[in-house]
Amino acid sequence: MNISPLFLFLSLFFINSIQSQNYWQQEVDYKITVDINAKNNSYKGDQEIIYTNNSLDTLNKVFFHLYFNAFRKGSDMAVRLNNGDDINTRFDLDISKLKPEEEGFLGVTNLKQDNVNVETYLSDTILEVTLASPLLPGSSSVFTMDFKGQVPVTIRRAGRDSPMGVKFSMAQWYPKMSEYDYEGWNTAPYTGREFHGVWGDFDVTIKIDEEYIVASSGYLQESDPSNFKLGIKSGKKRIWNFLAPKVHDFTWAADPDYIHDIYEGANGVQLNFYYKNDPEIIENWKALQPITAELLKFFNKNIGTYPYKQYSVVQGGDGGMEYSMLTLVNYGKDFVPLVSVTSHELAHAWFQGVLATNEMNHEWMDEGSASFFGDLAESFV
Ligand SMILES: [Zn+2]
Repeated sequence: MNISPLFLFLSLFFINSIQSQNYWQQEVDYKITVDINAKNNSYKGDQEIIYTNNSLDTLNKVFFHLYFNAFRKGSDMAVRLNNGDDINTRFDLDISKLKPEEEGFLGVTNLKQDNVNVETYLSDTILEVTLASPLLPGSSSVFTMDFKGQVPVTIRRAGRDSPMGVKFSMAQWYPKMSEYDYEGWNTAPYTGREFHGVWGDFDVTIKIDEEYIVASSGYLQESDPSNFKLGIKSGKKRIWNFLAPKVHDFTWAADPDYIHDIYEGANGVQLNFYYKNDPEIIENWKALQPITAELLKFFNKNIGTYPYKQYSVVQGGDGGMEYSMLTLVNYGKDFVPLVSVTSHELAHAWFQGVLATNEMNHEWMDEGSASFFGDLAESFV
């Protein structure tokens, strides 16, 4: 059949406009308070979530990710690693051989929907919640809960005592609402693969021993009168309150030996650099700062303007991983890999951070674009 280009264009336009009329996104706003016990690597907190069902479906259940349960003996991640069907050379530690104090866990108690207790069922890293009353299209519920966790040794992406000695790399640390979208619930157990989150505002208050410097998604709300980079002193701890607007995840890291440098980026974006006070890496982390500002300019020009007023490059984790408004990178002794990883992770700030395609199901969309633009930018700076 001979189809004219105009007909094809009009058909695509028509299909596209029908699809966008039916397009919806769930919304979640978090208010989290967490108290860290840096001596035994445990934490406890509470969380209030306003969840809005913008879908066309009535929901009778919701699901939460409790990622740190992956780092326990018998977890799906542990079993997959031991049975050889998920070999990943980056997992240096055998989860099945961890001591109890090296394992991770995250548990939720007292979970309520609009002040009514709800039934839960825990399966590895997924908490299934049967709602007390169905969530109709367009309606919202408030979920409240208490949670307790233990930070595992760094096995994959998050944990304590990273390979370069960063104390806390707190990615995937809180009970996180699963995404529900046109492909249904995103409830795959965490076995080390990537993420898909619900958009919303995060208001997070972290209480931690006073000697720690905290790097975080979001903007620090109130600082110590004697030092604007620090949270407020409270007894032998400090309280760090961050607001991260319109993001789909919240990550932080903390170490007593972090140096925190600020470098002014294009359009008034504050670039933060957090790295350990280690003579072997300081020079490289200083030299990285003007290059990151150039990378930001390159991406602004070639992809689109970065929509937040802050981005942080933070030493931590086990390699390089992108999160909302920050990246955790485990580099510094060699300059070129430090720049390459920063370029790649900063490119993710657009593809994972803003476009936020489902990395679990369609990893190529985010990873492919970040790899292409990350490499391209690196060749220009
Ligand atoms: Zn990547």
